[in-house]
Amino acid sequence: MTALKIDGERLWQSLMDLARIGATPRGGNARLALTALDGQGRDLVAGWMRDAGLTVTVDRVGNIFGRRAGRDDSLPPVMTGSHIDTQPTGGKFDGCFGVLAGLEVMRTLNDHGVRTEAPLELAIWTNEEGTRFVPVMMGSGVFAGIFPLQTALDATDNEGKRVADELRAIGYAGDAEVGGRRIGAYFEAHIEQGPVLEDADNVIGVVTGSLGLRWYDLTVTGMEAHAGPTPMPLRRDALYGASFIVQEVVRIAHDFAPHGRGTVGVMTVHPASRNVIPGEVKFTVDLRHQDAGRLAEMDARLRAACAALARGETTGAPLGVKIEDVQYFPPTPFAHELVGHVRGQAAALGYTHQDIVTGAGHDAVYIATVAPTAMIFVPCKDGISHNEVEDARPEHLEAGANVLLGAMVAQAGA
Ligand SMILES: [Zn+2]
Repeated sequence: MTALKIDGERLWQSLMDLARIGATPRGGNARLALTALDGQGRDLVAGWMRDAGLTVTVDRVGNIFGRRAGRDDSLPPVMTGSHIDTQPTGGKFDGCFGVLAGLEVMRTLNDHGVRTEAPLELAIWTNEEGTRFVPVMMGSGVFAGIFPLQTALDATDNEGKRVADELRAIGYAGDAEVGGRRIGAYFEAHIEQGPVLEDADNVIGVVTGSLGLRWYDLTVTGMEAHAGPTPMPLRRDALYGASFIVQEVVRIAHDFAPHGRGTVGVMTVHPASRNVIPGEVKFTVDLRHQDAGRLAEMDARLRAACAALARGETTGAPLGVKIEDVQYFPPTPFAHELVGHVRGQAAALGYTHQDIVTGAGHDAVYIATVAPTAMIFVPCKDGISHNEVEDARPEHLEAGANVLLGAMVAQAGA
């Protein structure tokens, strides 16, 4: 059959309509998970889902599913989805694009009277952002069995409000069990949230998997002393020592290019006085790579650098170095067949495209642990997201939704 095309203007209008709920003065969005505004956003989109003929179900952690029956409704559905909660100074596209692109797929199939062989489903996952409640990617995480339902329901915000109560307050404490719902395949469209596509002038990112990550807390301990009377050879300067680790983190990431990443994002210096040699420095390290073996090698390099620093080989003075493991997410390769559908559709539709990995967490990364999964990226302006200035071009969003439509139909069978 000839390639169906979504209605780009309708997609854009839906994005703008949703963005009016929780609009910020600088053009962004603030719809934090399970606030009244999130409830209004959910009501709007769930209403659109019903208008599109979808059967809407809500589970106990507030995930929303809209189902479009297939010719053979006993087949596991081809699902798409994302999230509509935002950061406090978030944008109009992060998450919302994936949900509304999925809705646009359903609307387009309705317009053309196309019934797929397998059923289709559209999911809105609860609290992807993790701003108000942790853990982050809460709804998809419980669905995939990454953490228990009760952990999510008992999570509190900084006013002590519980997820369970806030779900009830906005009318999204559903009664469907979380997880166990069959998924034949899962596609998620998303803005890239990075600069790679824009830099390469490509329209579609064919996401082959997600970077694994390791988070650490490091503490370097030296000796506080007066900055004047203490000669250089007799110092044990914790910040000077830590600076070598900061540089090594960046060097490691470069040495494992192009998929290595290394970041020190937080540093606290004690006692933080201009005329005291720093006695203790605490800082975070974030290492990422798409290959588990390479990530393990990066980990070993970091530990070797810490050991050398502790022995005094780096600064000439031994320092205390403590390295604590905070979090490990292994790299997640996406499903070969589904990635192939995304690449094939991008090519068939004539969109410039490239393979890419996601360095950010997504609901799709959790869903990939329970179902074959792939993602579709479109560029965002200057690679910026989690910011009110987050922006994306209508024609890129349209292209991403067209690839999603083609991939879902190819998978579900027309
Ligand atoms: Zn997102």
